[in-house]
Amino acid sequence: MRSNMMDGALLIPEILERARTLYRDREVVSLLVAGRDEQGNPVPHTHRTTLGRVAARAAQLANALQAAGVERGDRVATLAVNSFRHLEAYLGVPSMGAVLHTVNIRLHPEQVAFILNHAQDKVLLIDNVFVPMLPALLPHCPMLQKVVVMGPLPQAVPGVVDYDTWIAPYPETLPVPADLDEREAAMMCYTSGTTGNPKGVVYSHRSTMLHALVAAPKDALNVGETDTVLPIVPMFHVNAWGLPFTCTLFGARQVFAGAFSDGRTVARLLQDERVTITAGVPTIWMGLLNELDRAKAAGEPYDLQLLTRLVVGGSAAPEALIRAFRERHGLKLAHAWGMTETSPLGTASTTPPGVEELSDEGYSLQAKQGRTVPLIHVEVVDEDNQRLPHDGRTMGRLLVRGPWVAASYHQDEGRGSFVTLDGTLWFDTGDIATLDERGFMHIQDRAKDLIKSGGEWISSVDLENALIAHPAVANAAVIAVPHPKWDERPMAVVVRREGHEVTPEELRAFLAPRFARWWLPDAYEFVEALPIGATGKVLKREMRQQYAGYTLP
Ligand code: ADP
Repeated sequence: MRSNMMDGALLIPEILERARTLYRDREVVSLLVAGRDEQGNPVPHTHRTTLGRVAARAAQLANALQAAGVERGDRVATLAVNSFRHLEAYLGVPSMGAVLHTVNIRLHPEQVAFILNHAQDKVLLIDNVFVPMLPALLPHCPMLQKVVVMGPLPQAVPGVVDYDTWIAPYPETLPVPADLDEREAAMMCYTSGTTGNPKGVVYSHRSTMLHALVAAPKDALNVGETDTVLPIVPMFHVNAWGLPFTCTLFGARQVFAGAFSDGRTVARLLQDERVTITAGVPTIWMGLLNELDRAKAAGEPYDLQLLTRLVVGGSAAPEALIRAFRERHGLKLAHAWGMTETSPLGTASTTPPGVEELSDEGYSLQAKQGRTVPLIHVEVVDEDNQRLPHDGRTMGRLLVRGPWVAASYHQDEGRGSFVTLDGTLWFDTGDIATLDERGFMHIQDRAKDLIKSGGEWISSVDLENALIAHPAVANAAVIAVPHPKWDERPMAVVVRREGHEVTPEELRAFLAPRFARWWLPDAYEFVEALPIGATGKVLKREMRQQYAGYTLP
């Protein structure tokens, strides 16, 4: 028997329509660059607008694109930081049937050109601060028909138009194609290439809408109309984890930090804009923690009472970091796990009833990546794709599936990343994880970062998390170094906290009670800073190359 329910397509214009009608007065705040100080550092300027204005201008953008010859399925790229104009592109471009391709601004111009060509982008919307990149890009991108600069241009650049002037004459009514299908492409993002060449993931209207719906509830990211949300995670990094869509759909006030991610600016913004939820990678939160500690020690602590949750993802947040935020500043750092290929939300950390959040058990659960959000499934398998037990101990290759998980890559690259298990397609994440009886997932490593010593696996993430708990350690990475007898052995590369000293012997003694002897790093190197990649993650591939010839004691 069929039901008698209506059908309704899951389309991004629906999100824009809510912004235009229900939430038109909701504020959208953006930090823009007003100029440079004597040291050349950007000086922030606060821009305020409303969701209603954003929706109207998104419609103008859609009409301008149409007039410029952009058709259904054409790609429109952005090279932009988080701001209200980028939000307009999020809403306007997919609503007229084109595909918004957000490009990582921190990549080398050669990589940017490769990605623009691979995606066959027709139009580029670029922030004024990145205009100096254009001469290195344009000669290599023959597909690009139009370049539009977002934000005031200090001087005219031949062949480029200014975004505000360009969209201004167009109507504020949205040109949605009548037969827009929910399975059509809406957004596109390339993996950041931490472990290989960037590959294109194409999101649909349907996957974007489902993701936006599932990200909002309390046990996911906890976003509602009374919230003020500051995504520090860039809008070019998996759609800022979908937050611009979730926030617009549910009417949350949005704050964008633009080009700023340093601890002081973030702390001020969280306080002054009365932010309730923020999201970013662990490196950002390490910077914020230093600033909060500094301010508290100086007797002028920030007032962050309204901040209910700092969502952390992209790489593992050490338990020591979670504890430091909670115990020193009363702030909750909550893990979420995902990838470009999973839109990204796959799991979120929650503390189940019966577990005290501030107990050792509570903290150790919070250091895991949490449980799947509805409609997402995960599994751990061995080398032969045989399912492994969910016992919280057995490490395996993590597989994931769900309606916002990629089923292939753009232009069909990376076939090896997909496996069929019992007749169902799964995405092989390249992560090594454990799952426990209750479904809590714990990422042990990237398969490529895992250390294989004498045929056994050592989790670099576990060792790093333990090292970071040492009071003299600011940051640490553990990598595999080739070894004649054991194949690979772990070595630790450590950044000391300012004004602190620590020796390899002391670190070894600190780790010894926590790990089997053969897990302990064979060497410790001290450095000023770890190499950080385009999405704020430690570049272990680079470090492995650097230390490949290292002679272990
Ligand atoms: P890239 O693969 O280029 O780094 P992604 O942003 O897609 O770009 O990153 C996905 C990877 O990030 C996952 O494979 C996973 O290992 C890691 N990751 C994401 N969230 C977490 C988390 N909360 N804890 C540990 N690792 C995480």
